[in-house]
Amino acid sequence: MPEIIHRSKTRPVRVGDLTIGGSNELFIQSMTTTKTHDVEATVAEIHRLEEAGCQIVRVACPDERAADAIADIKKQINIPLVVDIHFDYKLALKAIENGADKIRINPGNIGRKEKVEAVVNAAKAKGIPIRIGVNAGSLERKILEKYGYPTADGMVESALHHIKILEDLDFHDIIVSLKASDVSLAIEAYVKASQAFDYPLHLGITESGTLFAGSIKSAAGLGALLSHGIGNTLRVSLSADPVEEIKVARELLKVFGLSSNAATLISCPTCGRIEIDLISIANEVEEYISHIKAPIKVAVLGCAVNGPGEAREADIGIAGARGEGLLFMKGKTVRKVPEETMVEELKLEIDKIAQEYFEK
Ligand code: SF4
Repeated sequence: MPEIIHRSKTRPVRVGDLTIGGSNELFIQSMTTTKTHDVEATVAEIHRLEEAGCQIVRVACPDERAADAIADIKKQINIPLVVDIHFDYKLALKAIENGADKIRINPGNIGRKEKVEAVVNAAKAKGIPIRIGVNAGSLERKILEKYGYPTADGMVESALHHIKILEDLDFHDIIVSLKASDVSLAIEAYVKASQAFDYPLHLGITESGTLFAGSIKSAAGLGALLSHGIGNTLRVSLSADPVEEIKVARELLKVFGLSSNAATLISCPTCGRIEIDLISIANEVEEYISHIKAPIKVAVLGCAVNGPGEAREADIGIAGARGEGLLFMKGKTVRKVPEETMVEELKLEIDKIAQEYFEK
């Protein structure tokens, strides 16, 4: 695992009961798809996201009805609530008054200085941060004219412009995102931003697409950044149920050893030596361990030829054999189990290991 280099160099910023940046863990974020003024539907979706492992949730605030709903939503959820506002400072003030834990608004888009000051003063009074959201698709005209088209330098310049407005008002609880749907552009922008300032970065590849293609696109872009230690919160944006965004984000964090509360499945691709119905077993075990909040590794292998040895890092695993399975731990066979009961026995062993982890 490469050394994580930048993450701890960011300034710590509080969002609700979480501290973003500093040496803290990276948090998973998502955004609701419901109409925010529909409190019941929004709260229900947030509960599903919480259950899936979402740690921060954002809601759109396009109008007054949405800003009014914030107080009711806040009362019924357990994770920090970010309110996303475009331009309208009155909505920002109302969202802050109603208990938003963070607002996403670009100060340079608010308008007159008094309006910006009003928002900044309200955020200061409540001790909440402001996220500056730079998007390659909506850069300021001046920057586009300078660079000709959206570039990483232009995106960082835009971020610095908004940051300066806040810093001039002595406001420093800032989080920045620099999203682009072009993966290479997003990577370059985030790398440059991590060198240009020390505010925490919220990662995202915007408009990345459907569940399958968007997961791959997000994993490519976000993975490149995570491998360099860049990023303090992240959202996988998908044209899908937002719960899927959380599943993909969790998987991604596990890949880089950044998740301390999720189990990992190792499963073989199968080949002509296969002795069990591996694909359905792997899917069943994956679903089972998705509820286990311990960093254990579980292997499901099609045969015992290279099986246990290949998955030596697994805490527990099963390798297929003719009419039976071999249960193994850390590369060593423990016992044979009949084919009919091997998945159930594997689940029992998984539970035991998870229990031991929590009793440690
Ligand atoms: Fe093939 Fe066995 Fe390796 Fe799976 S574990 S890929 S079945 S040799």
